[in-house]
Amino acid sequence: MRQYSGEKLCRKCFAESIEEKVRVTIGKYKMFEVDDKIAVAVSGGKDSLSLLHILARIEKDFPKSSTCAITVDEGISGYRDEAVRIAAKNCARLGVEQTTVSFKELYEYTMDEIVGKTQDGKLTPCAYCGVLRRKALNIAGRKAGADKIATAHTLDDEIQTFFLNVIHGDPLRIARSGPKYDQAETGFVQRVKPFCEVLERESALYAYVKDIPFQEIPCPYSREALRNDVRHTLNRLERKHPGMKYTIYSSMVKIREAMKGTVEEITLKTCEDCGEPTAGTLCQACIMVRGLRDT
Ligand SMILES: [Zn+2]
Repeated sequence: MRQYSGEKLCRKCFAESIEEKVRVTIGKYKMFEVDDKIAVAVSGGKDSLSLLHILARIEKDFPKSSTCAITVDEGISGYRDEAVRIAAKNCARLGVEQTTVSFKELYEYTMDEIVGKTQDGKLTPCAYCGVLRRKALNIAGRKAGADKIATAHTLDDEIQTFFLNVIHGDPLRIARSGPKYDQAETGFVQRVKPFCEVLERESALYAYVKDIPFQEIPCPYSREALRNDVRHTLNRLERKHPGMKYTIYSSMVKIREAMKGTVEEITLKTCEDCGEPTAGTLCQACIMVRGLRDT
């Protein structure tokens, strides 16, 4: 795996090195077919916009493929509205079609309203947002006619999640995560992570050197205290032992491979309320929305 070498390269060579790294990752995990319609989940942050710019560039070498953007408007005033505008500006600059879906239209509630209703609840705003966003992306991906949904999870995100799953003792999630998952035939648009071997700092630097406008303020509801602690710990380890993040990533891949055969296949059904795929009678999102209606 190519290591970070941003300090030693000029802007143009650095940008090309990241684009090449993404091409290699896509090839290594066979993420796309030559004629895929790829929907990039674009939030308006640096990672998703860097990914959109890179995939729009790579797609030019594959005339039968196309790239579009999907944006979820969670309804967070003073935050998401600005991000949606920035995402739209980037899509216009690249000539990429954009599909937007909102929590309000899908679930009756904005994230602001959900936070207002769940102040004393057990779940954090991030827990609601994660489940509702995942379903929204799937719906938006289908609406856009996409074969794949590309998300901008970086190597940092991947190893943080791995640590969190270890902390919570969740072997199923470790075995089922990865750069390419959710088979289309189950009702999910297949999701891929072309940035899974790109460091967060490389993704940020790419946005800067390419003059990509992005939203810099963090989400006002972000309360992922444990993930932030894991993030700081991993950054500290990397500073003390350069290359440590890649070492952890490689170990995670080995552990995941070793665990794959031990995980039972889940038979998916369709949710009684919304028809989306689910392991139970109702999908997690519908359980949450029912709970909100009763609050
Ligand atoms: Zn449902």
